[in-house]
Amino acid sequence: MDKKPQSLGEKDKGSMAKNGTKEMEAESPFYLCSKAHKPDQSIIQIGPVYVGSDELLIIAGPCAVESEVQIHETAAAVKRAGAHVLRGGLFKPRTSPYSFQGLGLEGLNFFVNAAKEHGLLTVTEVMDLTHLDILAQHVDILQVGSRNMQNYPLLKALGALDKPVLLKRGLSSTVEELLAAAEYILVGGNHKVVLCERGIRTFQNHFRFTPDISALPLVHELSHLPIILDPSHCSGRRQWVIPVAKAAIAAGADGLMVEVHPAPDKALSDGPQSLFPHQFQQLMDEMEGLAKALGRKLKRNKGNEKAHHTMPQANL
Ligand code: PEP
Ligand code: MN
Repeated sequence: MDKKPQSLGEKDKGSMAKNGTKEMEAESPFYLCSKAHKPDQSIIQIGPVYVGSDELLIIAGPCAVESEVQIHETAAAVKRAGAHVLRGGLFKPRTSPYSFQGLGLEGLNFFVNAAKEHGLLTVTEVMDLTHLDILAQHVDILQVGSRNMQNYPLLKALGALDKPVLLKRGLSSTVEELLAAAEYILVGGNHKVVLCERGIRTFQNHFRFTPDISALPLVHELSHLPIILDPSHCSGRRQWVIPVAKAAIAAGADGLMVEVHPAPDKALSDGPQSLFPHQFQQLMDEMEGLAKALGRKLKRNKGNEKAHHTMPQANL
C-alpha cells in the first residue's frame, strides 16, 4: 500500500465540500466519502501513524477517566506496550442515569497531562456541542460515540473544525448510515475522519454486541476513509477482546481501539471488557506478528517520553 498521504484536489477542500449540492445527494448520500468520488485511500496522519496506509493505529486506555492516579497508571502501561493514542471518557453516555457519568471537565487536566507525560496523543468523546470548543482546544482527536452517530448538529460542528474525528458506528446503524454520517463532517470541509466499527445489535446475546467484521472490507470497498475496530465494546468480556481484535486486523481494519484498566475489577465503567495491562501487552505482542504476516505494520510507539503533544497536521 502506498504510504504517502494522498492529497485531495482543490475542489474537495473548497467549494465542493461546502456545497452539498442536490446532484451529489441524488448520486449518493455519502458522495464525498465514496470511492467513486476519490478512488485513492485517504491516509490521515495521527502522530507517528499514517492511518489508512499499511500502518496500524493503536488507541488504548480506560473506558472513563476516573482519577489522576488511574489515568497516569494506564497511560504508562499502554505506552509501555507501544500504543499511540490514549483514550479516556470524560463524559460517559451510560444507559442508566444512576451509573457513573464521568468526571467531566474536572478530568481533562489529568487526562491531558498523563498523555503528555508518556508521549501519547489523546482521544475523548464529545457528547454535546457545549463542550466542543474546550475539548477541541485540548484533545488531539474528537470521538463521536455510537449513540451520537446521527447527532447532526454535532457532526456539522465537527465538520467546521480542522481536527481528526473518530466516528463510531451507531449500534443499530447500517454501513451506509455510517458513511452518510461521515459525509456531514466531510461536507463541512473536515476530511480527517477515521471510522470505527464497534459492534451492532443482533439477536445473539452472548456478546454485548456482534462485531460486524464484514463491515471492514465493505467500508474499504465503498469508501476511501480508514476504519478501525473497537473489540472491547463488541465483546463485553475481556476474554473475547484479543480474538476479535485479530479477526479485525485480518479483515483489513486500519487499527484498534481497546479498553485497558490498571484494575478492571474496580473500574467505574466497562470493567468486565477492560484488559489488564499484561493482556494488552500480550495483544500488542501477538498483533505485531499477525500484522507482519498480513503485510501490515505495527510501529510501536517508542517515542520520546516527553514527545509532541501537539497534533501534527494531517497532510490533506
Ligand atoms: C466509548 O468508546 O467510550 C463508548 C462509549 O463506546 P460506544 O459509543 O461505541 O458505545
Ligand atoms: Mn466503555
